[in-house]
Amino acid sequence: MAASTARVDLDGNAIKPITICMIGAGGFIGSHLCEKLMSETSHTVFALDVYNDKIKHLLEPDSLPWAGRIHFHRINIKNDSRLEGLIKCSDLTLNLAAICTPADYNTRPLDTIYSNFIDALPVVKYCSENNKRLIHFSTCEVYGKTIGSYFPKDSPLRQDPAYYILKEDTSPCIFGSVEKQRWSYACAKQLMERLIYAENAENGLEFTIVRPFNWIGPRMDFIPGIDGPSEGVPRVLACFSNNLLRREPLKLVDGGESQRTFVYIKDAIEAVLLMIENPARANGHIFNVGNPDNEVTVRQLAEMMTQVYSKVSGQDSIKTPTIDVSSKEFYGEGYDDSDKRIPDMTIINKQLGWNPKTPLWELLESTLRYQHKTYAEAIKQTIGKTVAS
Ligand code: NAD
Ligand code: UDP
Repeated sequence: MAASTARVDLDGNAIKPITICMIGAGGFIGSHLCEKLMSETSHTVFALDVYNDKIKHLLEPDSLPWAGRIHFHRINIKNDSRLEGLIKCSDLTLNLAAICTPADYNTRPLDTIYSNFIDALPVVKYCSENNKRLIHFSTCEVYGKTIGSYFPKDSPLRQDPAYYILKEDTSPCIFGSVEKQRWSYACAKQLMERLIYAENAENGLEFTIVRPFNWIGPRMDFIPGIDGPSEGVPRVLACFSNNLLRREPLKLVDGGESQRTFVYIKDAIEAVLLMIENPARANGHIFNVGNPDNEVTVRQLAEMMTQVYSKVSGQDSIKTPTIDVSSKEFYGEGYDDSDKRIPDMTIINKQLGWNPKTPLWELLESTLRYQHKTYAEAIKQTIGKTVAS
């Protein structure tokens, strides 16, 4: 299906349909981006991943209006010779593939480093050698901890935005010691950013780097024991959703004092589409993509999700809605945390005019409605089976 009206870029020029090689298209962000590209544009997507469960609804049946514009390739980029050919046949490569779950960073640091650095090397090489544009997904975690976190707890300097707002072009990257293997992910992502930057400087690679700040929404990660391993630990949205669905207390790691800003996946995808369709404005830039207005502590997030889930499920919350757990107990040895993550929005505002729209309450409501609709019945059945056996 062609987009119904002629699309123009931010400078008023008509947008020509392109072919996009999307690596990691079967994941959370990839699935939303594929949906957007199919329903609102005329671009063609080669969707590469080892899984396709989250994009099955876009691939089948053949009668879908965009059939012929999305092609799934089951490829592990670690070892598949088809990768270079697919990059060569595309106008743009988008790399989303990664191990990106904190529970893995300190328990599987080798896999984490390979996935986020070594496995991405051929992607950069093929783009550079074939003069293809690359949009690479990095992370806000490259900022690590804030400068403010090193001041005494009662220091007024902690309140000064100069010491906590994260800016693409000036903030330092502050990681813990090597024993704190949590930082294996951030460090691998940072080195990959530096490599891409150097490929541009020395060989002219056209690139854009995206630093997502806690994008959340439907289809994020998995619910343990339902569509993922029972002992698996997904990111916080899915952990808390799982606890709410099972009527268990939400676990607050180290008191739930860390702060995060959450952005709705649908807002964030708008930013990625602007990058795709405005290369002259996006090339050579690193972009924070987040919502500085949606900041909460993890404890506040737990309280909000508990209230919202009561509303969408029609059930009262349990007597003890949260419990404290140590990070060692929850994640194991070597865990550490980012204290606070507020994105500076100057560069993305100036280059792409993008701003997030959805407040936290609203995005939690639509996401938890989805979680309830998708999983409540399956959880009920699993609990029923356990009780019966
Ligand atoms: P995700 O885990 O849902 O998606 C990643 C996808 O990559 C998965 O479908 C996985 O199967 C695929 N993949 C991994 N290794 C692969 C390989 N060797 N070959 C082929 N496919 C492979 O994660 P996501 O949330 O969609 O994140 C996408 C990207 O954005 C990642 O690079 C991540 O580091 C970055 N990011 C996301 C967030 C966020 O808020 N969601 C935050 C920071 C960074
Ligand atoms: N967290 C928590 N309980 C959970 C899962 C996560 O308290 O069940 C905390 C985690 O320690 C971190 C924050 O929630 O401080 C966000 O974790 P997430 O896994 O989403 O990834 P991060 O933002 O650290 O990359």
